[in-house]
Amino acid sequence: MIRTCVGCRQRAEKTTLVRVVAGPDEAGRTAEPDPDGTRPGRGAHLHPSDRCLQLALERRAFARALRIEGPVNADAVVAWVRSLADESA
Ligand SMILES: [Zn+2]
Repeated sequence: MIRTCVGCRQRAEKTTLVRVVAGPDEAGRTAEPDPDGTRPGRGAHLHPSDRCLQLALERRAFARALRIEGPVNADAVVAWVRSLADESA
C-alpha cells in the first residue's frame, strides 16, 4: 500500500508512515497518532519525523486530511513524534 505523507508529500510505503486520526471528542479538533492503524474513520499519513510534522502543521494538512474545521490541536502527534526521536537518539 502506498500513501502520501501529508508533510513532505512524498509517496511512501504505508508501513513507513504513521497514521493520524481525528480525536474522539465531539468537536473533533484534535489529531492523534494511531500507531497500530486500527482506529476507525479518516486517516492522514505522516513520516514520523520532526521535519514532516512541521511541514504538515504549517500547511494545516491534518485539518484538510481529517476534515476538521478550524484550528487543530495536534499536541498528541507532536509529543508522539518527539518520543520516537528520543528513542532513536
Ligand atoms: Zn514525509
